[in-house]
Amino acid sequence: FPVELTDLVREHVREIPDFPAPGVLFRDITPLLADGPAFGALVRGLADKYRGHVDAVAGLESRGFILAAPLALELGVGMITVRKAGRLPGPVVGVDYALEYGTARMELRPDTVTEGQRVLIIDDVLATGGTGAAAVQLVERSGGEVVALAMLLELAALSGRTKLDGHRVDSVLIY
Ligand code: AMP
Repeated sequence: FPVELTDLVREHVREIPDFPAPGVLFRDITPLLADGPAFGALVRGLADKYRGHVDAVAGLESRGFILAAPLALELGVGMITVRKAGRLPGPVVGVDYALEYGTARMELRPDTVTEGQRVLIIDDVLATGGTGAAAVQLVERSGGEVVALAMLLELAALSGRTKLDGHRVDSVLIY
């Protein structure tokens, strides 16, 4: 991504210590979303990288949705929703994965992906990579081809990339 896009994200993301639990440094993208020109520049900057190379954008609930919808419109393609367990009416495919404490599950309606479709997965933060890896599995099991995972922020210390080996990860800003 161009350095201007990286600067834009750095300048508009807030760090909140001990949220939602003690010891977690939460990266909050709401100031970026609340700034109209910045949000627009972000979406256009993301679109410039993928225009012509993707057939759909898959957003990861919840903050990935906020990015995926305007990006899909800007690219002139559809949006796929990868959702938390129990939110989508069936039939769904699901993947369970480990969190630091406990487990989580993401689901996808396979009929929202077409065979051979080139899919871009997007979310706000790449942390341990569990959510992204689950999304990759769901898209691939549904017949899609994952072109890349786009992340606004990557927390490199958590080595999320290692769970996504073989797939391209594009992060606007790496901490
Ligand atoms: P992970 O599966 O560990 O890569 O976590 C990714 C999901 O958790 C993303 O959807 C993020 O929105 C959220 N997340 C994890 N860590 C943080 C953090 N430090 N700040 C904000 N969001 C986070």
